Amino acid sequence: MIDIQKIREDFPILQRKVYGKPLVYLDNAATTQKPRVVVDSITEEYYSVNANVHRGVHFLSQQATELHEGSRKTVRDFINAQSTNEIIFTRGTTESINLLAFSFGEEFIKPGDEIMISAMEHHSNIVPWQLLSSRKGAVLKIIPISDQGEILMDEYQKLFTDRTKLVSITHVSNVLGTINPVREIINIAHQHDVPVLLDGAQAIPHIKVDVQELDVDFYAFSSHKVYGPTGIGVLYGKEKWLEKLPPYQGGGEMIQSVTFEKTTFNELPFKFEAGTPDYVGTTAFAKALDYVSAIGIEAIAQYEHELTQYATRQLKQIEGLRIYGEAADKGGAISFLVGDIHHFDLGTLLDRLGIAVRTGHHCAQPLMQRLGITGTVRASLGLYNTKEEIDILVAGIQRITNMF
Ligand code: PLP
Repeated sequence: MIDIQKIREDFPILQRKVYGKPLVYLDNAATTQKPRVVVDSITEEYYSVNANVHRGVHFLSQQATELHEGSRKTVRDFINAQSTNEIIFTRGTTESINLLAFSFGEEFIKPGDEIMISAMEHHSNIVPWQLLSSRKGAVLKIIPISDQGEILMDEYQKLFTDRTKLVSITHVSNVLGTINPVREIINIAHQHDVPVLLDGAQAIPHIKVDVQELDVDFYAFSSHKVYGPTGIGVLYGKEKWLEKLPPYQGGGEMIQSVTFEKTTFNELPFKFEAGTPDYVGTTAFAKALDYVSAIGIEAIAQYEHELTQYATRQLKQIEGLRIYGEAADKGGAISFLVGDIHHFDLGTLLDRLGIAVRTGHHCAQPLMQRLGITGTVRASLGLYNTKEEIDILVAGIQRITNMF
């Protein structure tokens, strides 16, 4: 059982008022708010530990390194990776996917090879593959989805050819909320000897992710969507894959030795981490993961599931409201439109009532084209949201629709 009032007290920003109204923060898919332990960790480390990691013999540098590498262990445990060698720190999901697109592309993609993504991807799981395709002459294949917002599994199977080199797909859709059947998606890809990258940006904060159980080859996610600081992300990769991939960026930290003639690269995971990492951020990120673990990701998933069902039921009572994304297995991102009210107008008026939602294409323009719309209003839930806040949202929408 989640003690929601106690949790809310951990997030000072939730006490804020906007336009004189209590803040109702329903934009968690864009970014989550931060508990006090996360923010305190940043201040404390800068005040009492700060020193560059890995290279120093002095006390502070060693302490900072211990914290930074300790965070890597926290991430490893959180997703149940086999080794810290498989945890690469990046700036976020976007950089994780770009890293893989570059390094995997350099090693494995030849002209005519195929990469598969789905019709419900975020731009950050589309554009890096397009860049790779134009660089290497590869072909992007798109797995179609149903009107409910589910992957068409038969179509997916049919897209495999002997040129398929990688499947890259979102674990949970940031627009439709769909939780994709990733176990099955991975099994099918593996039957064709094709590795899979999951974009876990919207999964990690909400559901249990066990990379070994999933048998997923690569997994990308962002700290700021799971109550941690901005500017940190993770690329998980099976060691057997990461060992085969060339570095993404060159610089300090990622080398073993450098002469003007030749450079040899550092071991995993440092081979992929050029330059000074955001070591203060990684410590705070680990605090966020510890915070989530202390509540329990299963308890969070259960609570958010109930909240999503409640929100969906209540929203459906509103005349003229249409929900986009009605998959059987669905997380807490709810996209909708009401009558012919423009999503931007609805979002702006909700904002005046203190309700933070997101409007627009949600960085998924091809999905909007598939749905035949230009955008939606999206309410997305986090572990601190309540039924009362859903009621405020519903009452707000009702008030606005009466005005139109
Ligand atoms: N993938 C999905 C499904 C997302 O929802 C997002 C962010 O909204 C991203 C990728 C990009 O994450 P970031 O901006 O943290 O790199």
